[in-house]
Amino acid sequence: MPTVSELRDAIAAVRARIADAASAAGRDPADVRLLLAAKTLPDDVVRAAVAAGADLLGENRVQELVRHAAAVADLAPEVHLIGHLQSNKVNALLAPERPFVTCVESVDSAAIARRLDRRCAALGRDLDVMVQVNVSGEATKSGVGPDDAPALAAEVATLPRLRLVGFMTIGLNAPDAGRVRAGYARLREVRDAVVREIPAARELSMGMSGDLELAVAEGATIVRVGTAVFGARPAPRGGTPG
Ligand SMILES: *Cc1c(COP(=O)(O)O)cnc(C)c1O
Repeated sequence: MPTVSELRDAIAAVRARIADAASAAGRDPADVRLLLAAKTLPDDVVRAAVAAGADLLGENRVQELVRHAAAVADLAPEVHLIGHLQSNKVNALLAPERPFVTCVESVDSAAIARRLDRRCAALGRDLDVMVQVNVSGEATKSGVGPDDAPALAAEVATLPRLRLVGFMTIGLNAPDAGRVRAGYARLREVRDAVVREIPAARELSMGMSGDLELAVAEGATIVRVGTAVFGARPAPRGGTPG
């Protein structure tokens, strides 16, 4: 298991990459937050990462989010859901004894947005959300198409308990930097169009270990990093993780 001091160094190295990319793009490095993707990690590694200075965690699965978040609740990091959300998991995600999740980045339909809004109303709480957009068109990726994103954003913004704070995408998985970057530029264009009507919707969650520089160059405000801090994850057995 990595020590807190090793994790602190690894996090600092990623923050330096972010700062370099921001400076190269003429942006303030403080405008880009680092989210640590915690999927498959043991609870004690997540705890060590938060102790090392991670203040924003990203989780792919509801069950793992609840377990990790409970293990670090006293340290109070922000916790975002970045994986696909099924409607039958909403009650487990949002429960009176589980105040953990602070943002759902993966809203990809009006139906799931309405479901979240109803649950929040029942609990008397509000929730930040992002609309997940599939900029690459790859069939394996969740998210609404870029052309449909503004309409979904407008609908989400009418729901009283949800606050639309921006947009998330998983970039094209390909070695062609030009095409990867074009996808991130597309998400920025969607955001720029929507933010004129909905000023709170300014976040762009995009970029991962392998391509965060491209995302920062296109305006990312949150980059989601796992491998560059924690090392390679064990290969999944029996299909892709989700
Ligand atoms: C795992 C994951 C990341 C981080 O990917 P790395 O390549 O390990 O940095 C980012 N976003 C999502 C949605 C993920 O599932």
